[in-house]
Amino acid sequence: MRPEILYPLFADIASIKGVGERAKKLLCNLIGGDKIVNMLWHLPSNIIDRTYSPRLANAIPGRICTITAKVVEHIAPKTSKQPYRVVVEDDTEQLSLIFFKVYPESIKKALPIGAMRVISGKLESFNGQLQMPHPDYIAKPEELKNILGMETVYPLTAGLSNKMLGRYMAQALAKVPDLPEWQDEKFLAQQKWNDFKTALFNVHHPKHQADLEPFAKDRCRLAYDELLANQLTLAIVRQRVKKQAGRVLKGNGLLRKKILEKLPFRLTSAQERVLCEIYADQAAPFRMLRLVQGDVGSGKTIVAFLAMLNAVECGAQAAIMAPTEILAKQHFETIAPLCEEIGLKADLLTGKTKGKQRKQLLLDLSEGKINILIGTHALFQEEVTFKDLAFVVVDEQHRFGVHQRLLLSEKGSKADVLVMTATPIPRTLVLTAYGDMEYSKIDQVPEGRKPVDTRVLPLDKLPDVVAAVKRKLATKARAYWVCPLVEESEKSDLAAAEERFAALQKIFGADVGLVHGKMKEKEKDAVMERFKKGEIKLLVATTVIEVGVNVPEATLMIIEHAERFGLAQLHQLRGRIKRGFEASTCLLLYNPPLSETAKERLNIMRESEDGFMIAEKDLDLRGGGEILGTRQSGFTEFKVADMSVHKNLLHIANQDAKLILEKDPNLETPRGQALRTLLYLFEKDDSVRNYKG
Ligand code: ADP
Ligand code: MG
Repeated sequence: MRPEILYPLFADIASIKGVGERAKKLLCNLIGGDKIVNMLWHLPSNIIDRTYSPRLANAIPGRICTITAKVVEHIAPKTSKQPYRVVVEDDTEQLSLIFFKVYPESIKKALPIGAMRVISGKLESFNGQLQMPHPDYIAKPEELKNILGMETVYPLTAGLSNKMLGRYMAQALAKVPDLPEWQDEKFLAQQKWNDFKTALFNVHHPKHQADLEPFAKDRCRLAYDELLANQLTLAIVRQRVKKQAGRVLKGNGLLRKKILEKLPFRLTSAQERVLCEIYADQAAPFRMLRLVQGDVGSGKTIVAFLAMLNAVECGAQAAIMAPTEILAKQHFETIAPLCEEIGLKADLLTGKTKGKQRKQLLLDLSEGKINILIGTHALFQEEVTFKDLAFVVVDEQHRFGVHQRLLLSEKGSKADVLVMTATPIPRTLVLTAYGDMEYSKIDQVPEGRKPVDTRVLPLDKLPDVVAAVKRKLATKARAYWVCPLVEESEKSDLAAAEERFAALQKIFGADVGLVHGKMKEKEKDAVMERFKKGEIKLLVATTVIEVGVNVPEATLMIIEHAERFGLAQLHQLRGRIKRGFEASTCLLLYNPPLSETAKERLNIMRESEDGFMIAEKDLDLRGGGEILGTRQSGFTEFKVADMSVHKNLLHIANQDAKLILEKDPNLETPRGQALRTLLYLFEKDDSVRNYKG
């Protein structure tokens, strides 16, 4: 249960004075939630100094001024193109306030003739006359002290002014209670950090530009709070899994030997090393929880399969869960024939498995007639009962959010869990996404793979590119055409993809298909199927196309506006044409001029195919806001913490979380109780709620 002390922060933002239906909608979009607490993490991006309050005769045009003056005259426009003017004066000079497209009534009300007003805004000089277009503030003299100071500027959205947001924010901040300190007092003193409430207040009331920097003291405190909440959550999940005794899985190796003899290739040494690590986990009497990272094409499936066979050799069952139906089917098509050859039975369970077929499958499963079950999250529905599930593989591809799914292994009371991902992840990000989970890297691809020929071209070479696609399609090959992320909104990604689709359709007719993020899972799968079968030869896509989908005929990829993608994303995209029978080509189209970082990114792409190297570079190159589409990357997103700045804090939080749970595994001490509040504050409810004790 959420502690009562936090209730005010979890109230609806509509409870803020002035926030109606419309403002609520805008706010929700802006702050990413509908609770007061979501507002707290919406941090200022700038400050405006309104302390400059000269006499008009001395005022320097170009600066933000806060003037106290008397309203002299209203000059209504003669045509609709002219502005409405209001002349004001102090005892030195006159100033014209300029308004375009306004209701005269509202201006007359705000600036009655003869009244004194405080006016704040940017002063300009026009033909030797002082003027101020659309002042930011018009207020009565008694309000001067509220305006004359540093104004906090927030990132905004159309329809929501900084003034409005500032008013809402003040109310939200006023609701922040004094919270018990969850950080170690000694550590706080050492860092010279303020308490949470003070830090939060300061962050929202910056006085200098330096206060806006992510390494400003108070921002660091908040970032650390967030990182500790993240690390503590992961540590709790891990503790929960680890605490459970596992079972010893040590098969006789016969099935594995048969399979290895039947495979047309030898395992790479990376595959063998990772398998050894997995077998050691399986043989240990604790519950296994390991992450296997391996680039697309590094051969994760066979590794997972061999590990599953180890469990089957012990007389138990194994399961593998894929993120989508099409990927589950793909695994099934690889695994089922191999199983058959050695006298085992594999089956496929997805949302599509219905009726009699499903009934029979569930029966077989509970009787132990199915050795290996492959499927989507449908595997973990309540009615699905295994006879004896001992080993679970979660194929994440590159979707994260793994910690919830770890709990799925409760199906088998002591099941070992192996998580696979096709994304090479730098150590820092492994920590934020998985905590201290053990991990293995398949950092080698099988020999004989043909490198992808990657080229970087300016967008105006588009006609040549279209000609290249034409030639390629004439050879029965298939091609991907990836459309750019235009903005952060999916709508505009879609518009760009649709536009390109329409243009290409004029050239390639029915050979072109379109897949995008707004489509339902089923529709997406259907389009991918048609592409796989060759009914579609050129697939226009936003970045949503499934990474793992295997279309060996696809040997050409065009990425439009490649400069807008992050390195890791480009690498993931390109991975899709590495499964081919033939050499592949990847064309990275960019819109000149390129920024230095973008240039470097594209160069790295041209020169390297090593996912682990690319991932490290990616993290280094990520400047603030450089990367579009981090949303799609699937990594844990932080509200305050910034991984390119607070890396060291993450490592401290990781150690801190470990120590906390060692000393106080059930979070029962006073600090433990305060930490529970921290977890709720950062909405890690699941991890605290499941706390036994
Ligand atoms: P991913 O890691 O992307 O899931 P897969 O497991 O799908 O990769 O393997 C890609 C392809 O490489 C498959 O066709 C698989 O049979 C093949 N493969 C796996 N291991 C090896 C190996 N050691 N040598 C040659 N080919 C291999
Ligand atoms: Mg795979």
